[in-house]
Amino acid sequence: MPTPGLPALAERGMRSTLLSLSRRRSLGRLATRIPVTRSMVRRFVSGETLEEALPALERIHEDGLATTVDVLGESVDSVEAATVAADRYLTLLGAIAERGLDPNVSLKLTQMGLDVDPAVCRANVERVFRRAAELGAFVRIDMEDHSKTDATLGLWRELRSVNPASGVVIQSALRRSAADVDRLIAERARIRLCKGAYKEPAAVAFQEKAEVDRAYVELMDRLLVEGTYPAVATHDPRIIRRAIALAEREGIGPERFEFQMLYGVRRDLQERLVADGWTVRVYVPFGREWYPYFMRRLAERPANVAFLLRSVLREGRGQGVDRSA
Ligand SMILES: Cc1cc2nc3c(=O)[nH]c(=O)nc-3n(C[C@H](O)[C@H](O)[C@H](O)COP(=O)(O)OP(=O)(O)OC[C@H]3O[C@@H](n4cnc5c(N)ncnc54)[C@H](O)[C@@H]3O)c2cc1C
Repeated sequence: MPTPGLPALAERGMRSTLLSLSRRRSLGRLATRIPVTRSMVRRFVSGETLEEALPALERIHEDGLATTVDVLGESVDSVEAATVAADRYLTLLGAIAERGLDPNVSLKLTQMGLDVDPAVCRANVERVFRRAAELGAFVRIDMEDHSKTDATLGLWRELRSVNPASGVVIQSALRRSAADVDRLIAERARIRLCKGAYKEPAAVAFQEKAEVDRAYVELMDRLLVEGTYPAVATHDPRIIRRAIALAEREGIGPERFEFQMLYGVRRDLQERLVADGWTVRVYVPFGREWYPYFMRRLAERPANVAFLLRSVLREGRGQGVDRSA
């Protein structure tokens, strides 16, 4: 849905700029020092530490929603950082199991070292898969930009026997996704369908929102009928209404698929769907490395930027930059 008062062209330009900025590490370092950014971040990020995230997870469960937890971090540039990231997932899995919370996590391959050394990445993901299998936990490999699609699907295919409770993500923005979905349906893969959060070139991705939405609906219809417990990951009310209409028409009950939404986005809709008897899983990120994730959330809804700028200006007249963090 376009942002009220913002012409479509300006909105597309802003989205593209924000997605470019999301890749600038120096800006990320600066952003984490500005207190108001941090308070705005808390809308989308459950905490900077596991200890902060756990009460948020407990509250979400009490409200009848399921969760998948993401330890924030991506594009690590050393073997050590990748190992630390995998270790954090092991700690997270242990903490979730200990408290009887929903055993479901989401991770990114560039966080596990894909850009540093694919063998290291594979070993790290295998460690997480193994521990998750021991604890009966589900692991979803998030999908990053199109340059990672083959590696991501390939690694999942290699490791799915280590933890069959695992799955991948398909982005309707990518032109290749219909073919990927064909193959993944045949493999009985657990697919999360999303629109795609990355800035992608026209050669590989639809550039018009209407095209991305149309592709989403086509893939979703197929997955609901033929897929293995697909996850319809969107906040788009029109698409959600269509999913429900199809499910009701075809007799597809809540045990055959779930909705997924992001922490801090359309909480009202999340609760309404649960009240109507559908399963809703909330993607709950935590960690200090929130900058790229946060920028993608801003890009999805430029109205968020206006809100942030107003707060920064207000704060600029007051507190200024926090140099203690
Ligand atoms: C559970 C989950 C997991 C995801 N995993 C991945 C992944 O692995 N790889 C990937 O590329 N992308 C992932 N995404 C992000 C996804 O690709 C989209 O960028 C994002 O969900 C926005 O698209 P939308 O389907 O909500 O539709 P849109 O058409 O973008 O938005 C529909 C409506 O939702 C609301 N909305 C959407 N985003 C926001 C926001 N940030 N702030 C406030 N309101 C908002 C607005 O009301 C908007 O009008 C994931 C999304 C979800 C929900």
